[in-house]
Amino acid sequence: MNGKMKAQMFYQPQEMSLVEVDIPQVAQNEVLLKVKACGICGSDVAYFFGRSPLETENGKGPLILGHEFAGEIVEMGEMAQSSSSFKVGDRVMANPVQECGACKYCVRTQVNLCENKRVKGVSIHGAFAEYVTMPYTHIFAIPQGISYQEAALCEPLACSTNAVNTLDVKLGDFVVVYGPGAIGLMQMQLIRARGAGKIAMVGILDFGLEKALSLGADYVFNTLDTSSPYYCADLPAEIRKLTDGEMANKVVLPTGAKAALQGALDVAGKKASIVYFGMPDEKMVLEVPLLDFLVNNRSILTSWQAPFTWDTARSALKNGNIDMKALITHTFALKDLEKGIRFMNDPAYPDKIKSVVVFD
Ligand SMILES: [Zn+2]
Ligand SMILES: [Zn+2]
Repeated sequence: MNGKMKAQMFYQPQEMSLVEVDIPQVAQNEVLLKVKACGICGSDVAYFFGRSPLETENGKGPLILGHEFAGEIVEMGEMAQSSSSFKVGDRVMANPVQECGACKYCVRTQVNLCENKRVKGVSIHGAFAEYVTMPYTHIFAIPQGISYQEAALCEPLACSTNAVNTLDVKLGDFVVVYGPGAIGLMQMQLIRARGAGKIAMVGILDFGLEKALSLGADYVFNTLDTSSPYYCADLPAEIRKLTDGEMANKVVLPTGAKAALQGALDVAGKKASIVYFGMPDEKMVLEVPLLDFLVNNRSILTSWQAPFTWDTARSALKNGNIDMKALITHTFALKDLEKGIRFMNDPAYPDKIKSVVVFD
């Protein structure tokens, strides 16, 4: 499609502006989406403030951020059209991680480890723009009854699904989730759907903890704010009490906070699995009491991106395993993206979960 579009161009830390650029041309295997919604991810915030440890060769643009998006197909390349999987007018959501399909990791289906991957909104232009192109192999039909805003968040849901699959929750498990942000609240709902016995949510802000309660957490603990009704000075002791001394079967960390990453080691019981998901800073090192871990057969695992979990995430969204609406607390127009990013970063406004940029 020829013409101009508005886009938020990131140039370097704390420098971004609304510009007019050419609408991107579709390649043979691509569709052009009119963007309808794009979530503001913690990694967009990190990128904006120049503290992203990833993909930033020099931490600079020009780059259009935004990797959690959904939109309407308005144009299709020849190959995309002949596949007849989609048609113009379809409502779709996008998997921004484009693996090469040819490297040694891709051919082993370990696409999250692809050596040549390109990620929309992270290493190539993303969806804080009126239009974005996507390969037809990396889009998914939005289920009926699911809004564009909810569909945009299928990206973090797919990543959450990977974490919860890795956690391998069993019926009746006592699970501890660290971090009642959008991802933690998605993971919590998936963990519930997989049959966990009890779920404890641990955080430092009551707004998120109360959201967790309303979405089905059994226990919530605020480990920082002594004025909180949920304040807990000794979390391991509390978990010990609740589990009759056994401690947690599963622990997941959708947070990069050092205190949580380290503290999680103390709430895991015998044979427990701990899954690291949140983004630590580059220098963070974990101290593991190895003998104790070995003789108690505990495992530390990681979850990175969303290899082949989109279909499961889509089903969970479609079939009501996830209340996504409850997580979207704020919306912003494209022109106000910087305001939205600064808002998400500002500790003076703790009452928020997820912000989404909406387009008309
Ligand atoms: Zn994200
Ligand atoms: Zn590859």
